Amino acid sequence: MPLQAEILSVGTELLLGEITDTNAQYISARLREIGVSVYRRETIGDNRSRLTGAFREALSRASLVIATGGLGPTGDDVTAECLAAALDLPLEFHEGAWEDMLEWFRLRGRTPATADRKQAMIIRGGIPFRNKNGTAPGQAILTDGKLACVLPGPPREMIPMFEEHLVPLIRSTFTDLVPLYIKNLKLSGIPESKVGEAIRDLMDSANPTVAPYAGRGQIRIRIAARHTDPAESRKMVDQAADEVKRRLSDYIYGEDEDTLESVVGEIMARRGLSIAVAESVTGGFLSHRLTNVPGSSRYFKMGVVAYSPAIKATCLGVPDEALRKDEAVNAETAVSMASGVRALAGAKIGVATTGFAGPTGGTENEPVGTVYVAVADEDGTEVERYVYTGSRTDIKEYGAGRALYVLWRRLMKSRRSPQGPKEGTVK
Ligand code: AMP
Ligand code: MG
Repeated sequence: MPLQAEILSVGTELLLGEITDTNAQYISARLREIGVSVYRRETIGDNRSRLTGAFREALSRASLVIATGGLGPTGDDVTAECLAAALDLPLEFHEGAWEDMLEWFRLRGRTPATADRKQAMIIRGGIPFRNKNGTAPGQAILTDGKLACVLPGPPREMIPMFEEHLVPLIRSTFTDLVPLYIKNLKLSGIPESKVGEAIRDLMDSANPTVAPYAGRGQIRIRIAARHTDPAESRKMVDQAADEVKRRLSDYIYGEDEDTLESVVGEIMARRGLSIAVAESVTGGFLSHRLTNVPGSSRYFKMGVVAYSPAIKATCLGVPDEALRKDEAVNAETAVSMASGVRALAGAKIGVATTGFAGPTGGTENEPVGTVYVAVADEDGTEVERYVYTGSRTDIKEYGAGRALYVLWRRLMKSRRSPQGPKEGTVK
């Protein structure tokens, strides 16, 4: 059984929604890397009885309890006092902690106030953590094989203290730490429900765990394994990843830090391809994403935002009939925009979008949210229609994501087809 931890975020300002709890997120992520499982996180106001109760409960379940916030000199900062109460131990004035604080004040040409002495109160038997970036020391106490600790609230004080004092203490206290090995597979072009269906049996596994997370037209499948031998956990993850890839290969474009734009960019750079983009509904968002990739100048030739029908006609050669039909939201417009911009730029690939971002407008055939995406290359053109729901920016964003997915799919197909461009050939 992995070591279980709980994190308590202390501060009424957190409960009031005035600040975001970045401390708990940071600590969670670091504990995962170290090999500690976080089973629960809780937010508590600066209140003695509730905080003491929260410490008691957390210590009854977990072997490691980490609290942040409420260590200041003022009356509402009660975290150390509440941990002492939960452990039935007294707080004692700690000369060493006080000396460290005096040094901190001395270096800044300041003198401490009487109230500051409170911050040098350490739980009997506890270990003070020196604060290099503020006055309040943190502290940790080991009782009954459980480690409890309190850290200051400000992240710039909490993070260095966590890294310098607590991480070594966790490692020396708990010797059976088993880090989690994680791989993320990135998917596009498929709804979450279909992903769930395809990998349902794999999601029942406890080690490795396989879990999909959906967000903004993308899906991430997180595969995680824990084994005392890191090579073994990597193997467990790789095996599960291979199985997921086998089932969903048409949609998995990358892993971990990959994005659709970085992956298509890498393919185009490797094959010596170039691209030009004509955007209507996405308003430049597609060009923005493509050019977010460092080195995209190697393949990105041009992007036009062709909003008015006159520009679609004169710059891209979209025929009049197409422009008149459903206010230029149709397959033919998308296709001629893609071929038009490809010819205009002298690029190997042309990509285009047209649609209705709303919130008002649309036609009987083509409601708000309709997006056509077309890709043109030397093998021909393809076009796809999609209808999204959401705000105007959502639809622009989904449309651009879909265009990148259709482009990726076409690049993958052309690699597989015998007539398609060969890997490594410069076009
Ligand atoms: P403290 O005096 O230790 O209660 O912490 C004071 C300040 O630390 C707060 O006003 C916040 O700016 C910051 N802080 C406290 N808790 C958190 C948290 N969980 N995440 C991010 N910042 C925090
Ligand atoms: Mg506070």
